[in-house]
Amino acid sequence: MTNFIKTLAPFAINHGRLNGVLPSLILAQGILESAWGTSDLATKANNLFGIKASNWTGETYTKRTAEQRPDGSVYYINADFRSYDTYEGCVIDLCHKYTHGTGWEDFNRYEDVLNQADYKRATQAVKDAGYATDVNYPSKLNKLIEQHNLTQYDREVCTMVKIALDAGHGVNTPGKRTPDGEREWTFNNCVVNSAIKHLRIYEGVEVLRLDDETGRIDVPLSARTRKANDWGAHALVSVHHNANTGDWGDWTGTETYTYSADVPESERLAEIVQGGLLSAYGLRNRGLKKANFHMLRESRMPAILTEGGYMDSSIDIKKLRDTDVLEKAGQSIAESVAEYFNLSTKQKAITADQGNEVLYWAELLEGGSDGQQSWAYGMLQKFFNCTGDRLLIDPNQVKYLKTLIEKDDRGVRLWAKQELERYVDTNQVIYLATLLKESDGQRAWAAAQMPKYL
Ligand SMILES: [Zn+2]
Repeated sequence: MTNFIKTLAPFAINHGRLNGVLPSLILAQGILESAWGTSDLATKANNLFGIKASNWTGETYTKRTAEQRPDGSVYYINADFRSYDTYEGCVIDLCHKYTHGTGWEDFNRYEDVLNQADYKRATQAVKDAGYATDVNYPSKLNKLIEQHNLTQYDREVCTMVKIALDAGHGVNTPGKRTPDGEREWTFNNCVVNSAIKHLRIYEGVEVLRLDDETGRIDVPLSARTRKANDWGAHALVSVHHNANTGDWGDWTGTETYTYSADVPESERLAEIVQGGLLSAYGLRNRGLKKANFHMLRESRMPAILTEGGYMDSSIDIKKLRDTDVLEKAGQSIAESVAEYFNLSTKQKAITADQGNEVLYWAELLEGGSDGQQSWAYGMLQKFFNCTGDRLLIDPNQVKYLKTLIEKDDRGVRLWAKQELERYVDTNQVIYLATLLKESDGQRAWAAAQMPKYL
């Protein structure tokens, strides 16, 4: 079985990429329609998809096939099928069918099959376009894709892995707070922000937040899953913290949920994430759980929901009030997602030359003329990829915000924390840049840390 996949995969990847067809779809159709390459057509003609020989000048293979009359009686005819030297020919033909339709079909007939990131959409689109009459055709393909982890081949085609994250609830959602009135959303938000920050160090990742990042609006669940589905996310992580009675108690632990049905890909992701969360929180392992939660049920990609610890637990609250723990939890989610998708860290090597440039800009930012300062600021903005809400500010502003984090006023502390998340920490960057000039070990370490800020 694995040999069949190995033989077919290079063709599926190559022609899938050229034509916008998901390799997982091609592979699953090949498996299903040729019974793992054992059918007559496959062994005699390398024809995996039962493509007939109409409008075909190449070799053919004639096969006696059973047909059925309306009254149910069976008769046999000889049908001509296309014959190929290798599997590659029939993969090309299948892709051609999707991009061009066939003779008598609309040119755009298979339009919805193309350029999909989500295999479930692709398999459904194949069925909807009338490729097969079997109503179970999409679910059969989906099952094969999940059982044999065929989406791993899609990642060679879709350059971007899209991760949807949300912090559960909004800051003012009634009920969702500790017995002392701290808000669940702020705990969730801290984890999500950290996860996003750490996902930045990997190549080819796009991140989308499904909640309102200010927390002011509790975005309805249906809007969250619609956003993830429309975007074509490849995975969804919903971050929560648990509650039991709402009064302080000694219940404790971390758990991760997947949808109640059999969802092997979500379960695989949950298993990795739960492992990371356990070491981040250091709380009891409550294990992997299943539930009919909206976020898990209505999302069309592998989806998990994490409950880091109990907000109303006198044990867990110590961890939840420690932002270092919450940041570690976010980091562990990023690392787990990277493991699940086999992501590699950014190869954008930060060279000593680049480090020198950063140092030069930083010096101008501190001591240059007004013109030099704004020029240096612009260069740094560009170098560190500052767009949208991601800003680069002068080290003094970061210093100021950092002093606010030490303040007793929890509101001020949280505000400063949130503000800081939006900024590239220039001090840290400059520190790393100076290390680029040091010993080999320090240089390698600094070069590896730098992309986090890019
Ligand atoms: Zn929650």
